[in-house]
Amino acid sequence: MSGENKRNVRPVKVGGLVLDGKKIYIQSMLNVPSTDIEGSVKQAVELEKAGCEIVRAAIPNMEAVKLIPAIKEKISIPLVADIHFDYRLAIAAAEVGIDKIRINPGNIGSMDRVKAVVKACRERNIPIRIGVNGGSLEKELLAKYGSPTAEALVESAMGHVRILEQCDFEDIVISIKSSDVPTMIKAYRLCAQTCNYPLHLGVTEAGTERMGLIKSSIGIGSLLCDGIGETIRVSLTDEPVKEIYAAKDILKAIGKSGGVRIVSCPTCGRTRIDLIGLAKKVEEATKDIDKDIKIAVMGCVVNGIGESGNADIGIAGGDGCAVIFSHGEKLRKVSEEEALPALLAEIEKL
Ligand code: SF4
Repeated sequence: MSGENKRNVRPVKVGGLVLDGKKIYIQSMLNVPSTDIEGSVKQAVELEKAGCEIVRAAIPNMEAVKLIPAIKEKISIPLVADIHFDYRLAIAAAEVGIDKIRINPGNIGSMDRVKAVVKACRERNIPIRIGVNGGSLEKELLAKYGSPTAEALVESAMGHVRILEQCDFEDIVISIKSSDVPTMIKAYRLCAQTCNYPLHLGVTEAGTERMGLIKSSIGIGSLLCDGIGETIRVSLTDEPVKEIYAAKDILKAIGKSGGVRIVSCPTCGRTRIDLIGLAKKVEEATKDIDKDIKIAVMGCVVNGIGESGNADIGIAGGDGCAVIFSHGEKLRKVSEEEALPALLAEIEKL
């Protein structure tokens, strides 16, 4: 199948999960101010409920370290501390039970500081994610390559990797994000050829919901179809919970996860019911259903039932009525008003 993981990934444990390429894990990040412990806990719980499998929190100062035990008490998914520059925050986060730390060892100063972070992580089996970002590339690399090219991003990431490897530390995850989709794709492909550490995929600063989803789908989706990527984050300038639904949809679209898959026709001159409205309602009503099923929402009986013959359950519009069908066979006819409840009742039975 397209999308089989072809890389021989070095397994890395993150809390109770193992990033080994067998499953793709969905991540998101809290956007409540780090000073708001109650709000952060609430958002982490919401994200877990929506299907987030790894959640990250910014830890900008010692005060924010208090978030870690408070959040961990209420969630069962791994928590990642996002730390820039200050090695003491990384050590403090490790001491209070963080599951993974995102920090770039090349940015934290002397080798003694790196060693102190590595020691704190090694003692507790905490992996480190190196997160390279096109917007914050080292000056030397920008001078060498002229812009944040894919090659420059990979060289930056491998520079950080080498620092950890010099400390005999290999519990490493890498991300190489760019807001430019082709650059991001090229960089991850290059990185996948260069090393066997698990890769966390994302298009950074992807934008608001619509464009962010498009850019992420192309970037993340292309790589996953190549068998590259162990965890993903769809970055949206929006509520983090929307990132989870978007990530789930990307995995569904490329056949990398089960769940409810909806097929629906574009409608045409044969359509006699409000199919666009019905399809939207079906999508909303089934978004949290935990069943591995395919639902068809089709505009007409003539073509709709045959075209979606492999759907577990479906509905096809007639003239002011609709037909419920399963695997190409008609089950019953209902009025247009009954269409949604009748379909949901059939889904319930599956
Ligand atoms: Fe048109 Fe019927 Fe095809 Fe929908 S299923 S696009 S209504 S022909």
